[in-house]
Amino acid sequence: MIGISVALTLQREGHRVTVLEQAGPGEGCSFGNAGCVSTASVIPMAMPGMLAKVPAWLSDPMGPLTVRWRYLPRAMPWLMRWLLAATEARARHTSRALHALHQETWPGYRALLGPAQFDDLMQAAGHLYVWRAAELGAGDRLAQQMRDDLGIASQALSGDQARELEPALSQGIRTALLLPENGHTCNPERLVKTLAAAFVREGGVLLRRKVLGFDIGAQGPRTVYTDCGSYPVSRLAICAGAWSMRVARGLTGMAVPLETERGYHAMLRAPGVAPTRPIMDCENKFIATPMEHGLRIAGTVEIGGLDAPANFRRAALLAEQGRQLFPGLTYEDASHWMGYRPSTPDGLPVIDRSDRFSNVFLAFGHGHLGITEAPGTARLLADLVADRAPCIDPAPFAMTRFARGGGAAQRGVAAPDAAQASAVAKDARRSAASSR
Ligand SMILES: Cc1cc2nc3c(=O)[nH]c(=O)nc-3n(C[C@H](O)[C@H](O)[C@H](O)COP(=O)(O)OP(=O)(O)OC[C@H]3O[C@@H](n4cnc5c(N)ncnc54)[C@H](O)[C@@H]3O)c2cc1C
Repeated sequence: MIGISVALTLQREGHRVTVLEQAGPGEGCSFGNAGCVSTASVIPMAMPGMLAKVPAWLSDPMGPLTVRWRYLPRAMPWLMRWLLAATEARARHTSRALHALHQETWPGYRALLGPAQFDDLMQAAGHLYVWRAAELGAGDRLAQQMRDDLGIASQALSGDQARELEPALSQGIRTALLLPENGHTCNPERLVKTLAAAFVREGGVLLRRKVLGFDIGAQGPRTVYTDCGSYPVSRLAICAGAWSMRVARGLTGMAVPLETERGYHAMLRAPGVAPTRPIMDCENKFIATPMEHGLRIAGTVEIGGLDAPANFRRAALLAEQGRQLFPGLTYEDASHWMGYRPSTPDGLPVIDRSDRFSNVFLAFGHGHLGITEAPGTARLLADLVADRAPCIDPAPFAMTRFARGGGAAQRGVAAPDAAQASAVAKDARRSAASSR
């Protein structure tokens, strides 16, 4: 999604663009996501109170968030950064940056797709968040306050009001929130393939190649080596999702902490219920999206790296949890999928020029929001390539924010340090006390 959006945008600005893609467009993480266009989703995963939940996550392999034990030592530095990002100040900083990036989402999709394809693929029916609890917990109340502070529209509903909108919902739902600015695509794979077809139709070159490495000179990469030939390069954008830091080896001076949050879906054909918009089960942490080929129930986070096999019991569990949300759900015909979210610990993508070579650009790390953020990312990256005033403040997306004691501190966001660790611990104590 990110690579094709960047390629199409750059091409329309007059650049000659070649895309090298090992599997075909829309076959990576962009294939099986929940398809949500979540402009109102500005709440990072790293939120105050997370530390208190870590023991439960580690002990339940089927919980909404799990870490594979064997992978834990490798994931530890990323997880530490993630926990350190979970203060209110940093969450608010992230949320403001996401809000700015999301301003381009709807106009950007209209421009990228054109009116006919936009109407065919995109729906702006809002999202419904639902809870069984009668009242929101502290974390959800803070999230709502953060959305309110940014002027994001939302409407609090009772369970009955939610069922008026979505009659298939369980009677157990007692609280809901309608986010009318959000929408969804009826098929994320087709969305990417449609944009790829436009890219080729308008003169772009799309090659099915695996990038293996580069010939790097003093001024940067000169040649790309692939599994089927090598190609000269004058400027390069790395948009390889969760694999981006593997692909970018040698092209950056510092390492970006990029991890994968593996997620799953169950795709249920002829599901017997017909919600009209994506519905987020905020307690079980999954989202059910109506798509042109059935109901997709997607979610869960599994920290397990890029090489371990999938655990499809997690996808099957999503389908079972879907039945608790929609008692009329049938799922005899279910297919299961796992994808690799490309995730940074602070929940913001990297959209930047390499710190090492001025002809290398980076656009990856979109985590839970790559479908939402593709148009904004492409716009900002095109500004960086053109060396013109950027459409939004690029600082929150700079790779150097991860430099030790570096960029972030200069821009007024404290880098992870002892003071921050103590703030995280304070948050954890507060949330442990409030849950007792
Ligand atoms: C369960 C789940 C639900 C989600 N729901 C949503 C949602 O509702 N809304 C939303 O906005 N986001 C959602 N996301 C997140 C979203 O799917 C991702 O952020 C997005 O797909 C990332 O896009 P990408 O282009 O960066 O990565 P990808 O789609 O993974 O693309 C990366 C591409 O790089 C290629 N590649 C890798 N290495 C090489 C190489 N060496 N040579 C050539 N090509 C290479 C791969 O083949 C791949 O096609 C969800 C994710 C998951 C897992």
